[in-house]
Amino acid sequence: MSQKKKNNIRNTPTHFLEATPHFDKENPLESMMNRFDIAAKILNLESGIYNYLKTPTKQVTVSIPIQMDDGRLEVFEGYRVIHNDIMGPSKGGIRYAPDISIEEVRALAAWMTWKCAVVGIPFGGAKGGVKCDPQNLSQSELEKITRRYTSNLLDVFGPERDIPAPDMNTNEQTMAWVMDTYSMHMKRTENAVVTGKPLVLGGSLGRREATGRGVMLVALSAMNKLELVPNGTTIVVQGFGNVGSISAQLLFEKGCKVIGISDVTGGYYNKSGIDIDDAIQYVSKHKNLKGYKNAKPISNAELLELECDVLVPAAKEDQITSANAKNIKAKIIVEGANGPTAASADEILDKNGILVIPDILANSGGVAVSYLEWVQNRMGYYWTENEVNSKLETMMKLAFDNVYQIAKEHNVSMRIGAYVLSIDKVAKTLKVRGIYG
Ligand code: NAD
Repeated sequence: MSQKKKNNIRNTPTHFLEATPHFDKENPLESMMNRFDIAAKILNLESGIYNYLKTPTKQVTVSIPIQMDDGRLEVFEGYRVIHNDIMGPSKGGIRYAPDISIEEVRALAAWMTWKCAVVGIPFGGAKGGVKCDPQNLSQSELEKITRRYTSNLLDVFGPERDIPAPDMNTNEQTMAWVMDTYSMHMKRTENAVVTGKPLVLGGSLGRREATGRGVMLVALSAMNKLELVPNGTTIVVQGFGNVGSISAQLLFEKGCKVIGISDVTGGYYNKSGIDIDDAIQYVSKHKNLKGYKNAKPISNAELLELECDVLVPAAKEDQITSANAKNIKAKIIVEGANGPTAASADEILDKNGILVIPDILANSGGVAVSYLEWVQNRMGYYWTENEVNSKLETMMKLAFDNVYQIAKEHNVSMRIGAYVLSIDKVAKTLKVRGIYG
């Protein structure tokens, strides 16, 4: 393995960071706005456009009355926020959670605008949610909630308007109900209204693995910049669900040595490398990594601070904060999760020369293949898995190179580079389209 090459993406100028508040548990809006403001200053964004891009295009709150299994009537609250649709139909998941709020949905919707622009797909950003506790709902109650939520939003959703996808606590089945409800009202089968569908309804091959595959692809591009060859490069992955386990598996297949993995039950470390296929088999049998024998148990906090080349946080938000950022020893961080690094940690990681591949680039493989799913639905012609994977590879490599280039040009981190690229793209599109009215 070659020696560490100095990351030649320069640090974010500190005067932009002076306004960054030092809190560690950030809400998604604060976290996004911190980076948005830095990028806006670099772009010298006029205040009118700044305000335009900060403000969602549409925000809808709907009430969802449901007859529960025991006969009671309950009323749930649902949201859909379209942050921006000037790049094309808006795209974003639907999340079911007891503590969801319209503020959170609003921030996540804006996040989607930037993510779609970074990966170069012709979509705007949106997000939806229903305030409910899916753990305490039966399958039939979940179906009723999903169908009523969809019917309340019939004039928002549409293949040319706004296209939902699964998110936290929603899945392929939820998308099948949304698609069926929408289709019933339209009097035709309209599978392009959602992505992340089951294959039999027009889902795409390669969609399940897409986010992890994208993480692997940008990790390879980043390693290449530091002249690290995959063979023997050491990897640590936090989270062993869809994104974490697939990223780990694909990097393992490329010859990397995965020395640490973790899930909600804790971290697992083996300095000689973990056989990821074996770990995946273990999880499919035991549901999680608890009791995994081929690695030493450590805590999730220790896992993040392991000596390694590449750290992939792929579990949840705010894992790297101003409290632990100084202890991170990885040369590269590839953000599989959304928001795993608090804005307050950005400067510390920058100063320590760690190359951070930000979430809006690193995990954009999922939405990129959602776009390919939508394209296939609209063509009525379906690609092989290899074709999907090869298109994804082209998109991810190009997105990485574009962000790297912009970061170099503006002398900023790749995170700020990604925001600069996407905000600039949307702002330029807005200028050419002009303001109607
Ligand atoms: P998942 O539910 O499949 O897996 C999450 C994993 O994280 C599980 O292994 C869980 O045990 C583990 N985990 C939970 N809390 C933890 C903790 N405190 N410490 C360590 N591990 C913990 O979820 P996923 O789909 O893999 O999503 C992971 C992250 O990636 C989320 O931030 C999600 O928003 C983001 N993301 C997912 C996709 C996608 O296509 N699935 C796309 C973009 C971004």
